[in-house]
Amino acid sequence: GQASAPDYLTGLNPEQREAVETVDGPVLVLAGAGTGKTRVLTTRIAHILATNRAYPSQILAVTFTNKAAREMKERIGHLVGGAVEGMPWLGTFHSIGVKLLRRHAELVGLSSDFTILDTDDVVRLIKQIIQAEGLDDKRWPAKQFAQMIDGWKNKGLDPAQIPEGDARAFANGKGRELYAAYQARLKTLNACDFGDLLLHPIRMFKANPDVLKEYHQRFKYVLVDEYQDTNTAQYMWLRLLAQRPQGVPQNVCCVGDDDQSIYGWRGAEVDNILRFEKDFPGAKVIKLERNYRSTEHILGAAGYLIAHNEGRLGKTLFTDRVDPNDEKVVVHAAWDSEEEARAVGEEIEQLQRNQHPLNNMAILVRASFQMREFEDRFVTLGLNYRVIGGPRFYERMEIRDAMAYFRLICQPADDLAFERIVNTPKRGLGDTTIRALHDYARARDIPMLAAASDIIETDELKPKARKALFDVVMMFRRWGELLENTPHTELAEQVLEESGYTDMWKNDKSAEAPGRLDNLKELVRSMEAFESLRGFLEHVSLVMDVEQNENMDAVSIMTLHSAKGLEFETVFLPGWEEGLFPHQRALDEGGRSGLEEERRLAYVGITRAKRRCHIWFVSNRRIHGLWQSTMPSRFLDELPTTHVEVAEAETSYGGYGRNPYGQSRFDKQEPFQNNYTTPGWKRAQANKTDATRDNWGNRSGHSVERIGYGESGPKARTIDGE
Ligand code: ATP
Ligand code: MG
Repeated sequence: GQASAPDYLTGLNPEQREAVETVDGPVLVLAGAGTGKTRVLTTRIAHILATNRAYPSQILAVTFTNKAAREMKERIGHLVGGAVEGMPWLGTFHSIGVKLLRRHAELVGLSSDFTILDTDDVVRLIKQIIQAEGLDDKRWPAKQFAQMIDGWKNKGLDPAQIPEGDARAFANGKGRELYAAYQARLKTLNACDFGDLLLHPIRMFKANPDVLKEYHQRFKYVLVDEYQDTNTAQYMWLRLLAQRPQGVPQNVCCVGDDDQSIYGWRGAEVDNILRFEKDFPGAKVIKLERNYRSTEHILGAAGYLIAHNEGRLGKTLFTDRVDPNDEKVVVHAAWDSEEEARAVGEEIEQLQRNQHPLNNMAILVRASFQMREFEDRFVTLGLNYRVIGGPRFYERMEIRDAMAYFRLICQPADDLAFERIVNTPKRGLGDTTIRALHDYARARDIPMLAAASDIIETDELKPKARKALFDVVMMFRRWGELLENTPHTELAEQVLEESGYTDMWKNDKSAEAPGRLDNLKELVRSMEAFESLRGFLEHVSLVMDVEQNENMDAVSIMTLHSAKGLEFETVFLPGWEEGLFPHQRALDEGGRSGLEEERRLAYVGITRAKRRCHIWFVSNRRIHGLWQSTMPSRFLDELPTTHVEVAEAETSYGGYGRNPYGQSRFDKQEPFQNNYTTPGWKRAQANKTDATRDNWGNRSGHSVERIGYGESGPKARTIDGE
């Protein structure tokens, strides 16, 4: 009974408790954000341990990130009192895969000290294989093939299993052959790629039923968090480990939320949720509907938004936490991203003055280039921040490369910068040349760029290398001459073009390349605020000097994708504009399902907030060097006015001098896809007084039933009946 239940159970609601206590047999917890799915998993493990059903080493638990695994371990310790000595099988699919593979490497033809190749290694290897086949690797780029292989591996496909059409699509029908050759090459190198960390164990288990049986005996309980984002290979792996012969209970518990499936572009299959009941007959499906995280307004906004998706299992969410003092979700407009960052910074400082720790605040962006503006602003303000799930803006590879060019122009003695970019993009200046150059510079005690300038006059280098180096030296001479008299942003653009650096990424077929190009554009844009290239470089070194310390009180900045599973008191969601969010690429490549995945991402964003959620959009962004008017995200139209308000004109940093909402956006609007009749957030704005609208610099006097999206009111159209 309740009275005698251990502490860790008493706080749970009946459904959560059922999910925790149903330890025998398959369980699927399907529930919306913040309903305690992760908490159920953690408590379930604590319960299994506390009731001596299994040792820590007999529990297999999969989390989405390593950080989540560490946190879970810690919390289990709290729940059962005292440290849990080792949970060796708690981790991500990959970390558990490595562990399995190290133990049984020989069963798949590797030895246990195999190396794991990173993406660069993989591409280099594939390029060799393509060339060895006598194919032109310009026509058939290695990067592209690497991505195809990754896609096949996500689906759990060996060379023999890939669809005929896929095999034909690459290298005149040699796709299958090349894939097989790649796998063979990996084996000789005693190496594997990320996909193999899952596929090898699958192969190994299939070929060695006795080994699989051993693990069936070991893993008495299997648990998976963020189940909606598992891909096919992960699902196969899981099913192998969790399924038991008939009559033996399959103690597997998966928790997930179809509305938070945001990795479709990486091969995740929401359908795994539907397959669960088929593959694990008799599964108990538990729904959690009470949300413990967020206010009524935050839930209302998120729920209303996600209802615009068609492909949903459908869930309800409610909260008991209804407090008249709760703030609505607030939508803010800003002139441009600089003002957006300034406004968010002010808001954060305001909260800080009211004793809110920075640790409780997060900025969640759609694209990593958006971080730059916030990082710069926070450095100016002296506000601590940390970037989660990736490098800080100025630490990104492409930014460092570009900065190395700029540094070397301003400071020709910067050898580190020289070495970084002398052969980036590839110019045929290999290690031998660099070493010769290095020795030459050392012997004469001069910088490497100066040495290069000298050495090309000699015959120390082979003609090809000499010519390549000559070109580099000439480029830097030319840029050096331009330094004083050319506007620095122009020079920066010129450098990135003429060096071939931009082209290098334009020709790159990897998934990250477009994001890197965006970051480079943002870099050039960010220089505008400075007088000179030197001034800018100084600024960046100051930004980079700000320490990043785990324990300091700091605002978190991360992408929406990295925010999964996390929660914060206050969440800022900037950049809600068409083309950025929903992202144009997702729309172009994914059509309707791309849009729905973007909307799920918006749902994830809003539901990270416990108490405060502030959404921003700007009316101007600089795209391809030109200022362009942007349109507010369609997702803003999909928020309910009952839970959302539009911020009053924020004149302290406002003063736009014109209506920040820019032009009418109704031409492009899609019809609603659901049954809701309340028009979106625009109604709230329409109902505001003219006085408010005057603060936006809008002409007063036109009807408040209309929305003055255009600069002149009369052009605006009514919201209803459109
Ligand atoms: P997401 O879908 O975002 O991953 P989730 O379903 O995993 O969310 P949790 O992170 O487990 O939700 O829980 C959300 C918050 O609610 C946490 O702060 C958690 O401690 C709290 N919580 C969950 N269940 C309860 C409960 N029964 N009583 C009090 N607080 C709870
Ligand atoms: Mg969770």
